[in-house]
Formats: sequence, structure tokens, C-alpha cells
Amino acid sequence: MKDTYLSLVNGPLKQVAKTLGLPQPVELNRFGSTPASYTNRPVLVLGSGPGAQNLADLLLENGLEVRRNAQSGEKLRAIIAVLDDAKSPADLSPIVLEAGAALRSLAPCGRVITVSTAPDAKNQTPELAAAVQGITGFTRSVAHEMRAGATANGILLDGADLTAPSVAAALWFLLSGKSAYVSGQFLTVSSDAGERLGLDAFMSTGANGPLAGRRAVVTGAARGIGAAIARNLARDGAYVIGVDMPQAGQALAQVTNEIGGKSVQLDITAADAAEKIAEAVGGPVDILVHNAGITRDKMLANMDAGRWDSVIAVNIAAQTMINAHLAEKGLFADGAQVVSLASTSGIAGNRGQTNYATSKAGVIGLTAASAEEFAGRHGSINAVAPGFIETDMTAKMPTLTRQVARRLSSLQQGGQPVDVAEAIGFLASSGARGINGETLRVCGQNMVGA
Ligand code: NAD
Repeated sequence: MKDTYLSLVNGPLKQVAKTLGLPQPVELNRFGSTPASYTNRPVLVLGSGPGAQNLADLLLENGLEVRRNAQSGEKLRAIIAVLDDAKSPADLSPIVLEAGAALRSLAPCGRVITVSTAPDAKNQTPELAAAVQGITGFTRSVAHEMRAGATANGILLDGADLTAPSVAAALWFLLSGKSAYVSGQFLTVSSDAGERLGLDAFMSTGANGPLAGRRAVVTGAARGIGAAIARNLARDGAYVIGVDMPQAGQALAQVTNEIGGKSVQLDITAADAAEKIAEAVGGPVDILVHNAGITRDKMLANMDAGRWDSVIAVNIAAQTMINAHLAEKGLFADGAQVVSLASTSGIAGNRGQTNYATSKAGVIGLTAASAEEFAGRHGSINAVAPGFIETDMTAKMPTLTRQVARRLSSLQQGGQPVDVAEAIGFLASSGARGINGETLRVCGQNMVGA
């Protein structure tokens, strides 16, 4: 759905919005729309330890221009603060203040990225725990202060070091237009699993794309976020098997024909759904995206069994059943990667959505609890929690509620289905296997439960 306000404040009403202090969302630089002037700008890498130098070397090896000190008058693509050697909160000040001084040089839709040790209070000294937890508060607050489509996110090292392949993959994702609608979030790298992808390989498409040669199943692929996921996975080289309800058969066929994939019409809650999906795939599944989902909103006082049960059945029980069937029959390929759709409602809760929030929080739990099993097959399982995304689902909201929901994020706009699809493509890539059991929010740093 079109955000008319966003078009107006970037056109005829720009000055009026500025004068009245109204929200001024900007058009985000997404993958494929990024102007050369932005991609060619240098990246400022801050930090005094060996980690910062290693990271600067990695960027240089991948053809990026790197600065270790801000140079006056130069616009920056990104500021990366490497804080992996911070041992106490007092250690943070030189680097965070240098980052702050460079913020005015950040180009529109630029990036701030922190790299630090993951909080693990049970195994860290109180001082270290204060420092690393402090960095998360810092990063989220910087994200709230970003302007002109810029974002701030963090990479957390949880037992992995800076040389882990998924640190590089996380950097490419966060630096690129693929993460346009991700802000105030953290990517936790917990192992050195995965392939080391260079920036060019990560950004390539088609036969050279990061998903080339892989077989991907996407449920709910006929429209909205699911259709965008199917298109993106195919763009990045995967062969896509789209699944949707028989009544959505025509729309599904349109999507799969467009991308040279295959369509399977079925209800994922049917007892034989997993078997039929496996039959249609005709071989091991490399990527499985559990996207199909429904809402049946009602306040709990008015909730009936039909609404409650149908949401649980589609949004969580079907995922559990399909995963279990494929695992039991040995139909997950070695290195298989699963990505499930959660929701910010599953994190923060939402009025009128007890059934939906239960199912989506369930997805987050299922994902975390399945990580070890998937790591055992050299793969991964993660979830993506979208905030307000412009689809048929959110078009049903009352106009005023929709307008408010759009402006309630740091980026002051709703996300596009492609924003969720990009995060899923990243988490389904071989470079991201060191990120496992996590839930990544794609919500523009929505204030709800932030
Ligand atoms: P949508 O309603 O536009 O599309 C959902 C698709 O799933 C439809 O094509 C539908 O036919 C299919 N589907 C539903 N039940 C099915 C079943 N039993 N078997 C097979 N297919 C089925 O929804 P969307 O907005 O694109 O959302 C996609 C996913 O993202 C959902 O899981 C949703 O909960 C989640 N999500 C969306 C938003 C948002 O803002 N749109 C926010 C958070 C989470």
C-alpha cells in the first residue's frame, strides 16, 4: 500500500513539514536503488584494539574505502565502532565520543554499526557485563537519534571471534541497502559455521548469487511478504517452490511462473501437508521459509475457539509439524537453513491479538529451541519479526491507526515486503550459518516493545 504522506513530505509539502516540525520520513536506499555516490563513500572504522584493524583489513580486501580517523568535510557511508576489547564502561568513552563527533558526516541512509562481545551476565565479571550491556543501550539510543534514513545496529560476538564467516556476512548485510528497514537491532554470531562470502559474492544475483543452486520452499508465497520472499530468493539464485492455499492458486502460479519456480497448492495445516511439500520438492530441502500466517483479532473477552485455534494451527503448529516431518524423514539437506516469520506482536504483545502474539512468541521459542538440532546438520534456524509492513494484512487496519503505526518507528514509515525478504535471504545464506536460534526484527526500530 502506498504511503501518500511520505511522497508528499518528499515533494510539495517538504517545507511545510519542516516548518511545522512534522515527521519527515525519507525514501530509503534499498538494494538495487542505491546511488553510486552513496556506495562509493568511505567507511570509518573506530577502535584501538587488534579487532578494529582486522575489521578494517577485511573491508579493504573487499574493495571498500576505509578511514581510521574522520577527515573533515568528507561524507561517510558508515561508522563502525569496534568495541570488542572493552572491559569496563569507562573504556567506551574515547570511541563512542569519536563516533558521535563523526555523526554529522554520515551520508543520508548511512550506517552506524557497533561490534562487541555479547552480554552473558552469568559468565562475565560485573564490570565486563556492565560494559557489554551498556553497548546495547548505546546502539539502540543512537538508532533513535538517526536521521535521513540512516540506521544503527550491532554485531554481537557470542563465543565467535571477528574472523567468523558470519561476522563478514552480517557486515555486508548491515552496510548494504538490504538492511534498509533494520535499525536498533543486533545480529549475534555464536559460531564460526558457514562459508566465508566476500562482499561481491553477497551482493551478486542469479547464477552467481549467494543462494545459487539451492532449493527453497516458501509457504504463503502467493502475495504480500511471501511473494517478495519468493522473488528475492530466486533473484539470489535459489530454485523456489511456492506453497499457498488452493484459492490463492492463480496468484501463486503468477509468482512462481515469473521466477521460474514451482507452485504447490495446499493448506499447510492439513495432516499430509509436510508429505506433499516433500513430494513436490523431490529432494532434500536447502531452505525453508515458514511465512504463511493469519490474523483473527479479537479482545480476549470476546475470543472464540475458532479464532484462537485457527491462528495457532497456521502460525505455529504447522511449522512444528513440517519441521518434524522433514527432519524425521531425513529430508533436510546438509546445511539446511530455516527462517520463520515471527512478529513484533510476539515480542511486545498487542491489544486484540492474544492469539496472534501467542503464536508468534511461539515461533521465537521454537526457533531458539531448534538451533542445536539444525547446527547438528551444519545448518541454522532463525526467525524474522516484522513490525508494520505495507501489505494486504495491514491495509485492513483503520486509516488513522495505520497512519500512526507508520510514524511510530525511528524511520517514521512502514516497511516494504522486500525489506523482510532481504533479511530472510541473508539469514538463509551459507555465510549466515553462524547466526542460529535468533530472532531479527525488521521494524524500523518500532517503538512498540523496542
Ligand atoms: P498476507 O495475508 O498478505 O499473506 C499470507 C499468505 O499466506 C496468503 O497468501 C495466504 O493465502 C497464505 N496462507 C494463509 N494461511 C495458509 C494456509 N493454511 N496454508 C497455506 N497458505 C496460507 O500476509 P503478509 O502480511 O504477507 O504476512 C506474511 C507473514 O508475515 C505472516 O506470517 C504474518 O503473520 C507475518 N507478519 C506480517 C506483518 C505485516 O505487517 N504485514 C507484520 C508481522 C508479521
